[in-house]
Amino acid sequence: MESEKLHGEEYRDSLATITKDGKRAWIFAKKVRGKFYNFRQLFGYFVLTFLFTAPFIKIEGEPLLLFNLPERKFILFSVIFWPQDSFLFYLMMVSSIIFVVLFTVMFGRLFCGWACPQTLFLELIFRRIEWLIDGNPTEQKKLKQQGWTFLKLFKRTLKHSIFWAVSFLIVNVLLSYIIGMDKLFQIASEPIAAHRGSFIGIVIFSSAFYFIYAWFREQVCTIMCPYGRLQGVLTDNNTITVSYDYFRGEPRGMEKKDKPEQKFGDCVDCKECIRVCPTGIDIRNGSQLECINCTACIDACNSVMTKVKKPTGLIRYSSENGLKTGKSFKFTTRNIAYTTVLTGILVFLTTLLLTRTETETTILRARGLTYQTQPDDNQISNLYNLTIVNKSHRTINASVRILSHKGNVQIHGTDLSLETGKSIEGTMIVFLEKADVKSERTKIEFGIYDGDVLIEKRTTDFIGPN
Ligand code: SF4
Ligand code: SF4
Repeated sequence: MESEKLHGEEYRDSLATITKDGKRAWIFAKKVRGKFYNFRQLFGYFVLTFLFTAPFIKIEGEPLLLFNLPERKFILFSVIFWPQDSFLFYLMMVSSIIFVVLFTVMFGRLFCGWACPQTLFLELIFRRIEWLIDGNPTEQKKLKQQGWTFLKLFKRTLKHSIFWAVSFLIVNVLLSYIIGMDKLFQIASEPIAAHRGSFIGIVIFSSAFYFIYAWFREQVCTIMCPYGRLQGVLTDNNTITVSYDYFRGEPRGMEKKDKPEQKFGDCVDCKECIRVCPTGIDIRNGSQLECINCTACIDACNSVMTKVKKPTGLIRYSSENGLKTGKSFKFTTRNIAYTTVLTGILVFLTTLLLTRTETETTILRARGLTYQTQPDDNQISNLYNLTIVNKSHRTINASVRILSHKGNVQIHGTDLSLETGKSIEGTMIVFLEKADVKSERTKIEFGIYDGDVLIEKRTTDFIGPN
């Protein structure tokens, strides 16, 4: 591996995945075993299981998660957000971004190593298939370097066919998060000609995913990923990352019997931490953008330390200041500021969610019209335009009643039976007793009912004689 040859400061202007003559340096990361690897595997399989099963889970007929951008319909854990809720949805997005920033400030690229789908797909699916077909990393390297034989051709064909099929499956699952599983099944069960555009899109995206997992791989994390590039501005000396304890480890090397005067730190310079690294870097060079905090080097080094009978944790989760002071974590002013902003947004968001009504009603007085005095001279009427959007999971049989005054409402142009996600528009004439209309503008409150259950209140003006 190229990075194994790097010493001193050379690593600063080289990439472990690119050779000196600009070619791709293929990473054959060694399999690792250890505590972190086991936890990461368990957590990763849990996340993957969730990703692949969530589109099948329905609550009250709606999927658990849906991000239908074309129709601007979003469902988060069965709460539906319609275009009318975009403010709420954007607020949730902003709070998520602030959460990610805050989390990164404190814990670096922890997400990348533990929960990022790119890492999970690559490490837990594609690399496993590769190990099954091509063997361990040493065998993989040998196979890559050898000439074309029938066996190599067979293995390559088999591996890449499976890679493409898995990419196709992933793309379909991701698509179901956008259009829903029902629509996806419909597309899959009808002739291709009926959905030519969707089919071409799926094939293009599957090929792009195949390219990423078959060839581009860790370069997504080290070159392309904008989140990775942000680390430089988000992390500081208090950020907890996978770190090499250079105070304890340096000078690196193995004591030699014939040179007992040469004293070394705990790092025996075995380079196991480099061999297991999926991005090919040497963590002993310090925090680097390419490090996805996968903890493979922690496990590798811990097992070396155990073998040489030294304390584990030469590579561990710590901050730069933590390494210097021996203290594990410090809550900085920046962390406090981010946490305060995030808490404020979350409280506001929770309040909005809890007070969110099942319908979104607009009652506006018809433009250019004044009040009408009824022939019996006892009542005054106003004409209103009425819009009701059903944001709930169920059909609502709505009715509008006056809450603040005696009087009655006549709906015209629509019946108020609303299926989920649908809206109705109509007009309504509102009659009030003349004695109750005491000024030119009287505040009037309406209640929107589903059967006999009050689900929303709306206030507007009722105009009358001066
Ligand atoms: S340096 Fe360690 S934690 Fe970072 S990517 Fe490499 S193996 Fe993973
Ligand atoms: S695995 Fe540990 S001992 Fe071996 S080179 Fe890396 S840091 Fe040093």
